[in-house]
This record gives sequence, structure tokens and C-alpha cells, in this order.
Amino acid sequence: LPLEQARFLLSAHTLAQLPPAGVPEIAFAGRSNVGKSSLINRLLGRKGLVQASSRPGKTRCLNFFALADSAYFVDLPGYGYAQVSLAERRHWGEVVAAYVEKRSTLVAVVVICDLRHELKRHDFELVAWLRHIGRPYIVVYTKADKLGRSQQERHAAILDAGLNIGREERILFSAQTGQGRDALLAQVQARLAA
Ligand code: GDP
Repeated sequence: LPLEQARFLLSAHTLAQLPPAGVPEIAFAGRSNVGKSSLINRLLGRKGLVQASSRPGKTRCLNFFALADSAYFVDLPGYGYAQVSLAERRHWGEVVAAYVEKRSTLVAVVVICDLRHELKRHDFELVAWLRHIGRPYIVVYTKADKLGRSQQERHAAILDAGLNIGREERILFSAQTGQGRDALLAQVQARLAA
């Protein structure tokens, strides 16, 4: 993967604004502030490419990053964003849902949860829904550096049970230390190549 060639392509507010389906895409989803921007930046090895959540305007779009002509990484809007109105949330939910369900070139959704926190309803629902529609997903528990090694496994086991997944189905990650980066890249690459 030409990670070093990643560049911002476009922000889509509507399905009509999506780039033409061409190269395979990996989408990234998670609650607002879960560490999604940091994770994508760490994956790409590019500190400031994906803007952090402090830029609310941008975080409500589907942000496309092109890895040369090989793949797109798609930063989905963070869910559970408190400041937006219900109507707006519904609109974004619909756009994102339609994208995830219908996009022909989407090969997997990376679902990001905080290793330290309890799952929220939206986390369960997202994984259950992806399973239901048959869209492949990769589960990542991030901010692992905030816990010691033994605590990491203990917390992860609780989240595994909540999401009903096996321990081989998720990756412990840290944008700070780079823990799990190689494992996640390997899974992403496998999905892109499939
Ligand atoms: P987003 O809203 O999901 O894109 O979240 P950000 O990537 O902006 O991260 C939210 C906050 O969590 C920021 O203050 C980050 O510095 C912090 N953060 C993100 N990932 C990690 C991580 O792996 N470890 C630690 N310790 N902090 C993180």
C-alpha cells in the first residue's frame, strides 16, 4: 500500500458527491472523540492528514483519502455527536447507512471502540447491522496505551462479549505507541486484495 502517497481527495455531504466507485475502499467508523482521526493518521504514518474532531464541520462529511490509485480510506462522520440537531443526525445517519449498505467498492468497515469505555448502544448496533447486511468489518479497540497489558486483555474480553466476537476478531491499538498498527494494516491489506 502506498501509504506515504495518501492525500485528501474530497468531502461528501450527500451520496451524489461521492467519487465514482473505482478502487477498493476501507471506511472507518466510531463514536466522536474515540480516536478515529488519530488512528487513520497513525495508520498512514502522517501526523496531520486527517483533522481531529476539533473541526466539527469536517467531521460530519464522508472524507475520502486516496492512496495513489490503489485504495481509498473513508473517514465516516463520528456518531453520537451531541451538538448536532436530531434532524441533522438523521440526515447524516441516512447518508452513511446508504453508503455503507450500497457502495459496491467498500470492502470493509473498521469499527473503532475505546478500550477503556463501556460500549454504547450505537457500537452494538453498528456491528450487529454490519453482520446483518453482510458487510465485512474489522473491530479495533483503541487507546490501549492508557491501560497496562493485563488490564488491556481484561477490558478487551468484556468488549468482545458485548459485541459477540472472538478475540482473534479484534485488534488492540494505540495511536500513541503504534501498538496494533501492523496487525491492522495486514487486515486492511488482506481486505483490499481480496
Ligand atoms: P476522533 O474524534 O474520533 O477523530 O478522535 P481524535 O483522533 O481527535 O482523538 C480524540 C482524543 O483522543 C485526542 O485528544 C487524541 O489525542 C486522543 N487519542 C486518540 N487516540 C489515542 C490513543 O491511541 N492513545 C491516547 N492516549 N490518546 C489518544
